Formats: sequence, C-alpha cells, structure tokens
Amino acid sequence: MAVELYNDGTHICLAFYDLVDEEAEHAVQCNQFLIVDGGHGALVDPGGNMTYNGLLMGMQRYFPSRNLDYILASHPDPDIIASLNKWMVTTRCRVLISKLWTRFLPHFTTGRDYSERIIGIPDEGMLIPLGGSKLKALPAHFMHSEGNFQFYDPVAKILFSGDMGASLIDHVLAGAPVKDFDAHIPSMMGFHRRYMVSNKICRYWVNMVRTLDVEMIVPQHGARFEGKEMVARFLSWIENLPCGIDLMTQDNYRAP
Ligand code: FE
Repeated sequence: MAVELYNDGTHICLAFYDLVDEEAEHAVQCNQFLIVDGGHGALVDPGGNMTYNGLLMGMQRYFPSRNLDYILASHPDPDIIASLNKWMVTTRCRVLISKLWTRFLPHFTTGRDYSERIIGIPDEGMLIPLGGSKLKALPAHFMHSEGNFQFYDPVAKILFSGDMGASLIDHVLAGAPVKDFDAHIPSMMGFHRRYMVSNKICRYWVNMVRTLDVEMIVPQHGARFEGKEMVARFLSWIENLPCGIDLMTQDNYRAP
C-alpha cells in the first residue's frame, strides 16, 4: 500500500514500501516514489520488473501513469531502473539520469532509439520543473555510483536520497519511519561501510544537505528519517563514518 509522505491537495509525494514482498525474499527490499504536482508526475527510482505491476496499479489512484512526465533515476542499478523498457513503451516520459549513464540505459530497452527521451543530468545537478514546482537534482556522486543524483522536493521538504541512508530490513518494517536511531544503526552499518566510497565524500554531501530545508530523508531501501531531529542524527552519523576506500588495505587486494 502506498504511504502518503506529503499531500496538500496539489502536491503529493507517495512512497511504495511493499512491492518487493515475501514472495521475493531473495531480492533486496526497495522503495519506489511518485511525486505529483498539479497534474504532472514523476517517478523516482521506479525499480525493476518485479515492482512494475504493483507500482503501475498503485499509482493510478493519484496519477494516471500514461501522463507520466519523468522518471528520475539516482543511478542505473537494476533495482532502480531495470523496468525502463515498460515505462518507455507505455508512457511518453523522459528519463533523467547522470550524463555518465545515458548511453548505458538503452541496454535496459529492446534497442529502439530512445535517445531523445533519455536526458543526461550534468555533474553539477539541475532544476527539474514539475507542474508549479521545481525539484532539485543534487550531486551525490560516488554514493554509491560514480554519476549519482538525489532528488530534493522543496515543497514537501523531502530528500529522496537513493542509497544514502539505506537500511536492509524487511518490507513490513520499511514502511514506518525510524523511531530509535541507535537501534537502527546495525541495519545501515554494513551497507554504508561497503557501498559508500569514502568519508570525505560523505562529509561533502552532509555539508550540502545542511544548506537545505529538509524535513525528511527518504532512502530507496528500508525506513525513512522523519523530522529535523532524526535528519540531524543521520547526518552526524554518516559524517563520522569511515567507509569504502577508508577501510581498504592491501589485504583486500590479494588474488584468491
Ligand atoms: Fe545501487
């Protein structure tokens, strides 16, 4: 069932937490998002083929899928955008993804030339007009993908943070916001230490996020951080976490 993260009647943010369910226990739990503003719509990280039908049906009540304006992709992983071909065929949407990945995306399609509809986001990010609002594509490179963006919605004050803030938990728990930050840390720790590239990059990101008015950080796996206090807790945790290449030594590079 969709969770309304924000709804003022004109501008709506929806999250889907349970489209990867117990029948797909072998697949990582992941979240999909819909942003609607005055008759215009964008999907954020719509996911792969496993979540396509559920998302398509779940979104209709809020927005007719055939009118979709955009797919916003944080990076080109299978759980983010492997369903691309279906959306290209059934809608006229444009896909926004790092310019590093535009020429890789056609491999998720059947080969038809969609280059006019696949838009490369420049490294510095961009504004994305949606109805009366303007979403921001924020640079989040190397967290974890080399060309990586997050999407900030200034109306809802929500940061859709992709893999940043991800927790590996069951879909039943993922739909509720984090209540106890300390208890939540173990579900994030291993993922961030291995997938995030370095503490230096995390700190640059934290500095950028602190310049924005963020009420909610909503990652693409696991539970969200709601309220200024929880957002601040996450930012100070990740800014102090050694990760990625900080932890690598020669021992990690020995031929088996
Ligand atoms: Fe990924």
